[in-house]
Amino acid sequence: MASLLDNLKKYAKLAIQTGVNIQKGQPLIINCPIEGAEFAHLLVEEAYNAGAEDVRVEWTDEVLTRMKFEREPMRILENFPEWKVQMLNSHVEKGGAVLSVYAPNPDLLKGVDPKRVAAANKASGQALKKYRSYMMNDRVQWSIVSVPTEKWAKKIYPDLAVEEAMDKLWEQIFRITRVDQEDPIQAWKEHNERLRKAREILNEKQYKKLVYKAPGTDLEIELPENHIWSGGSSLSEKGAEFNPNMPTEEVFTAPHKDGVNGTVVNTKPLNYNGNLIDKFSLTFKDGKVVDFTAEEGYETLKHLLDTDEGSRRLGEVALVPHNSPISQSGLIFFNTLYDENASCHLALGEAYPTNVEGGPEMSEEELKEKGINVSINHEDFMMGSAELDIDGVTKDGKTEPIMRNGNWALDME
Ligand code: ZN
Ligand code: ZN
Repeated sequence: MASLLDNLKKYAKLAIQTGVNIQKGQPLIINCPIEGAEFAHLLVEEAYNAGAEDVRVEWTDEVLTRMKFEREPMRILENFPEWKVQMLNSHVEKGGAVLSVYAPNPDLLKGVDPKRVAAANKASGQALKKYRSYMMNDRVQWSIVSVPTEKWAKKIYPDLAVEEAMDKLWEQIFRITRVDQEDPIQAWKEHNERLRKAREILNEKQYKKLVYKAPGTDLEIELPENHIWSGGSSLSEKGAEFNPNMPTEEVFTAPHKDGVNGTVVNTKPLNYNGNLIDKFSLTFKDGKVVDFTAEEGYETLKHLLDTDEGSRRLGEVALVPHNSPISQSGLIFFNTLYDENASCHLALGEAYPTNVEGGPEMSEEELKEKGINVSINHEDFMMGSAELDIDGVTKDGKTEPIMRNGNWALDME
């Protein structure tokens, strides 16, 4: 059996070559929690091997993050540091790529005043708008991968000892990201090919509307004209193929921001910046959330919805078959990167301009006119299950099954 270190090396190589696909001479920022230091060292080594230049790691430390939210005065939380904005902007402006190692502790900010968290999120969202637009528009390559941390592993496996929980989570991550396969890079090529087929079929269809039915969910989502389904790999402005998410099992497009009506309930908990929101429902009228409930995290959900005008509207509709490998694990990961790829999902907030023809060249006003939502939030939430049926309504009014009992009903061959 391959040792942990062997697999870590394979994983790092996969993240650098298939994830961000770093190019010769390209700068790279790696965001990483201090608990993932060993993995970060391997990533940097692989980045240099691939010819990257000016590689820097931005460390995050959960203990300090929590302390900051508890101890800093509000006027500091409300003001995102200008020097950091300049540093990040200058990186993407010179064409730098961004690789984020995402390993959130779902209970990190439990008990912290949601008002303080919301203020800080709003400040960073506004300050980093330009920086984020480079990723939302695929101008530079970007990618997100996860590594286990002790707190996260214990959240998934509360009954196991820490070490055992960490081993189990690594095992899942290696399986789900195909690192346990002989040649993971080749396995991802084949996987991307399957996702490309699915998105091409949906692009051809150009459905006018999607109709969702599941216990508690009865929702209609209009799609904008000339919408584009994405999924699997993307192309950067300079033509480098990269995978924004590892794992990824979804194909997704933008909903019409004014064309959502009905009610949806979540099927897996949402970890929103260190707080859990669960057992919630959203009711839409003409695209806008007009009513909502939540048994857990009501205040956090309220702050999320009230961040800005676009936070009450949808910015993504994603299809993931219920028989995806992540779903097969039967686990709830409390990590959106994993849970969203086990379940059909929607996102509140900003849509990807790449999901409509000509979108990346449009101004905010032009995007809105096309029905593409604009916001400083983009928050996926899971609403798929084995009981979800989705129909597509064609331009000439025909209704076709897209998904039945959570799996593809369209011919995907
Ligand atoms: Zn998604
Ligand atoms: Zn999303």
